[in-house]
Amino acid sequence: MERTRIVELGSKVGQTVSVSGWVDVRRDQGKLVFFDFRDASGYVQGVVLPGSPAMETAKDIRNEYVVRVEGKVNKRPEKNAQADKQNGDIELEILGIEILNASEPMPYDITGDTLPVDESVRLKYRYLDLRNPRMQRNLRMRDKIVSFFRDYMHAHGFVEVETPLMMKGTPEGSREYVVPSRLEPGKFYVLPQSPQQFKQLLMVGGLEKYFQIARCMRDEDTRGDRQPEFTQLDFEMSFVEQEDVLSYTEPMFIELVKALYPEKHITQIPFPRLTYAESMGKHGNDKPDLRKDKNDPNELAFAWVVDFPMFEKMDDGSIQAAHHPFCSVKPEDREKFLKGEDLFSIRANSYDLVLNGYELSSGSIRIHTREEQAQVFNLLNISKEEQQARFGHMLEAFTYGTPPHGGFAPGIDRIVMLLENQPNIREVIAFPKTGEGKDLMAGAPASISEQQLQELSIKLDLPPAK
Ligand code: ASP
Repeated sequence: MERTRIVELGSKVGQTVSVSGWVDVRRDQGKLVFFDFRDASGYVQGVVLPGSPAMETAKDIRNEYVVRVEGKVNKRPEKNAQADKQNGDIELEILGIEILNASEPMPYDITGDTLPVDESVRLKYRYLDLRNPRMQRNLRMRDKIVSFFRDYMHAHGFVEVETPLMMKGTPEGSREYVVPSRLEPGKFYVLPQSPQQFKQLLMVGGLEKYFQIARCMRDEDTRGDRQPEFTQLDFEMSFVEQEDVLSYTEPMFIELVKALYPEKHITQIPFPRLTYAESMGKHGNDKPDLRKDKNDPNELAFAWVVDFPMFEKMDDGSIQAAHHPFCSVKPEDREKFLKGEDLFSIRANSYDLVLNGYELSSGSIRIHTREEQAQVFNLLNISKEEQQARFGHMLEAFTYGTPPHGGFAPGIDRIVMLLENQPNIREVIAFPKTGEGKDLMAGAPASISEQQLQELSIKLDLPPAK
């Protein structure tokens, strides 16, 4: 018999059907055995009546067994109906049940609220953790959100392009993950902190509107809610100014909320705009939480923060690009920039989108001439040789008719986390790592074999074990 998905059972009252899925809960009442069955489409209750040929097998079945059930879809008597539950008005009278696979007892209760469960256990058994209804919803809503963005981008003429994961280097302010080259011993690729350089080079390449659901890798020290790899909706546009990027992005978020979270409300439209200086002065930070009621789970307070400083002073006194070195400077500050004066007062054409006190996205209008790009590197005290070695390809590309361009990169994990009211981004990533960058399920990072090391011409010089 053809398989019927649980979600379709409501329209099959009176029919005999075949259902495949998991045993969510089994309640043995002696003469009767009740089950809640689960498949990807939902839940239904089944019952084995006294004298049923299915009784013997039903007695052997435990939670999380995978089964195929043949049964008759019956309307429940009025008094037993549960209006608040999916399929609460029907019941599957089990005529036959076949065990497709058994299951060990679960390491913890995966059917209830898993947030209080020790997270290291949840991560070790992530494949079981994902069976939980909240995790199922998180991943399914994530898919809907990503699809929304993809469709929106395509509808506005953007082209999705995949950019390399093995590359030369990205100055986004974090440490890079490195990948040793076997064919060129002693040389390394790095994993992108973002597709920043490639997306700008796609503008040089005439794409005009690019986007990508891009994985970004950053080797940061343990920081609670950061992940070594995360996902951005990365995009770039040619022939635009800051206003164009903001006025493209804002309706996209408003539409997203309307389409997928109609129960939520946005505090202020158009989104309020603050300069970095205003935000710091008024709120003491650059990601103000502008919600009117912080206890309202449906309030979304978006805000723009603009005019970030171009440079920042590090603790050791050195200078660094506040966002990244490809941002252009505001026309009012251009003279100071060209003269190299009063560097920390120079503002960039850069902007952040903030939601409920979280930075959702950063972006900027970029530099598109070789002279200005080199000037940034000069001001960052990067020698001419190093500029050539690290960024020669960008400097050269900018000499071949590069259009003015700018872009943005909203963080998908944070967006899903905030829209789903989840406490951290690990809850909306299928297989996240711990705050220390560990994969507790498979056990990464891990040693590699002596032979692999030899092939890579790598000799280890490990610090003494602590
Ligand atoms: N590449 C930047 C980032 O990852 C975003 C951008 O400037 O478009 O923050």
